[in-house]
Amino acid sequence: MAKQTMEFQAETKRLLDLVVNSIYTNKEIFLRELISNASDAIDKLHFESLTNQDILEGNSDFEIFIVPDPDSKTITISDNGIGMTRDEVVANIGTIAKSGTKAFLDKVKEAGSVTEELIGQFGVGFYSAFIVADKVTLITRRAGESTATKWESDGTGEFTVEECEKESRGTTVVLHLKDEFCGGIGSEKDFTDVEEIERLVKKYSDYIRYPIKMNFEIEKTGDDDDKPAEKTIEVRTVNSMKPLWTRNKNEITREEYNEFFKHQFHEWEEPLEIMHSKAEGTIEYTALLCIPKKAAYDLYYSTYEPGLQLYSRHVFIMDKCKDFLPDHLRFVKGLVDSPDLPLNISRELLQQSREMKKIGQTLAKNILKQLSKMLANDREKYEQFWAEYGKAFKIGVYNDMYGGNVGDELKDLLLFKTSKDGKLSTLAEYCARMKPEQKEIYYAVGKDATAIEKMPQMEILRDHGFEVIYALDPVDEFALSTLQMYDEKHFQPINREDLELDDDESKAARQKTEEIAKDNETLLNDVKEALKGKVEDVKLTSRLKSGAVCLTMGAFGPSLTMEKVFNSLESPMLKAVKILEINPEHALFARLKALDANKDSEEFKTFCELLYDQAMLIEGVMPDDPAALANKIAELMSK
Ligand code: ADP
Ligand code: MG
Repeated sequence: MAKQTMEFQAETKRLLDLVVNSIYTNKEIFLRELISNASDAIDKLHFESLTNQDILEGNSDFEIFIVPDPDSKTITISDNGIGMTRDEVVANIGTIAKSGTKAFLDKVKEAGSVTEELIGQFGVGFYSAFIVADKVTLITRRAGESTATKWESDGTGEFTVEECEKESRGTTVVLHLKDEFCGGIGSEKDFTDVEEIERLVKKYSDYIRYPIKMNFEIEKTGDDDDKPAEKTIEVRTVNSMKPLWTRNKNEITREEYNEFFKHQFHEWEEPLEIMHSKAEGTIEYTALLCIPKKAAYDLYYSTYEPGLQLYSRHVFIMDKCKDFLPDHLRFVKGLVDSPDLPLNISRELLQQSREMKKIGQTLAKNILKQLSKMLANDREKYEQFWAEYGKAFKIGVYNDMYGGNVGDELKDLLLFKTSKDGKLSTLAEYCARMKPEQKEIYYAVGKDATAIEKMPQMEILRDHGFEVIYALDPVDEFALSTLQMYDEKHFQPINREDLELDDDESKAARQKTEEIAKDNETLLNDVKEALKGKVEDVKLTSRLKSGAVCLTMGAFGPSLTMEKVFNSLESPMLKAVKILEINPEHALFARLKALDANKDSEEFKTFCELLYDQAMLIEGVMPDDPAALANKIAELMSK
């Protein structure tokens, strides 16, 4: 087929633009990316060769070769991996197939520029070549095919593809380096320098399991002084290839761990926490796990694939093995290497195997133990963790509603903002601060701290010095109601009708209100009648201070926010039991009483409806008929 000029897919073009024009501090990452692609390509070939020996073409000496060349101002990275067909080149290099790309570009838009962190999170991979090169030539032959393909681009808008010859299978990528990366005067870095590249390979790619080879010039001085020094070329393997996790923990530097996770799990930033453990005994395994600093952008969506890599005797078995860790630890990345797993069974059976369950349970327990330690010893770091993954724990607690002990395992790791100072507290910390007479743990649901602080029910709690937990995420309320209790104290939402503050002042106020209520039984019944179908009950309350009315929920059943969530799920059979509470100390109450003398009048009905509407508004719920409400207010104002 003749040479063909093609355009990059629009999204790729945008991405390239961003990559080329953004200013990186870390130009050298291109090498890690290309070596990682080469290594992946050899993995693929190796995997295919297990069922098809012929594909190896008689050569199973896998290797990656790097040639920096100052004369031609290039650096060439070759592999003898799987290679690509012409169609694959166009599909893999010309377009962005990855589902995360759209999300990546959205994030870029959000952030305003391409940050290294973003690139790491999403992996720009091959395109990183254009950070340092103004032209990239890729020549590749798919193992088992006879024709090869040459792809070339300057990274602007187009690329060319044409048929060519290539003797050995695999891929060769030639980067035509920009001048500033060739070591000349004023240049930033010299990627044509053998020693520099050797250093980078050791730094970023030491654990790659295939040899990364380079040519080294050796000067041999003759025994005779008259003879000029002889130069010979020696091929050396630069990386150690020893899987990191097989080495002794004490001999591994933090930097080595970081690089490992970056390469192996496409992490950009160094992990927040690293856990390297070995177990001997009935089941032997090594696990190398990490908690990434940032949650995957789709951690809570179905596109996210949790799971650990599985190795047996250092040989890769499978990726994303889901059944090691429970769902609330889905953010943990890493690998397990165990000789004790039954590998000659199907993936499904393996995942159900006793050995895998056992390893998984131990790992999960250890991770939580590590997190407890972090919470106790490094609060700042734990709060960083919480900001990224707290939701996973709260969902975990909620999903445990049908029994199980996730709630028990996680309850001491939960953090909530509270009314104390807006800082995060554990439940234990909250309990330690409870007033002696306080018997329940109070919480309030709202979209943010300000919304909760403005709730009319908050005023008394604040006045009487009771601390309130803020349930700001919709899942918080679900999690707390699943937990039910902590340290033998019930969780009590402050807007349920059964809230009873336990201090003397509140007890006295309650008694007084009860007496007023007794005297006003007919009035309350009349209001209830006027609001039939809207509220279940109408009561007088001592829980308000300056507020005139509030809405509370029945002691059982869903809350108003839950009702909203369920309604959005289209299962509106769950309705909150609403109770209208009126403050008898408010001037409005006297007016209500006066109007009740004429309880069948339109005026009384309107007044009651207004009470209800404002109570709903305080809860953040639009009245059923906003125009009618506005009319009622206007009428009232013109009196
Ligand atoms: P990723 O490696 O995350 O898939 P890249 O941009 O690094 O993304 O690479 C895109 C795709 O191009 C790879 O998935 C692979 O299919 C193909 N590719 C890149 N380099 C090579 C190579 N050396 N050999 C074979 N295929 C390659
Ligand atoms: Mg890649």
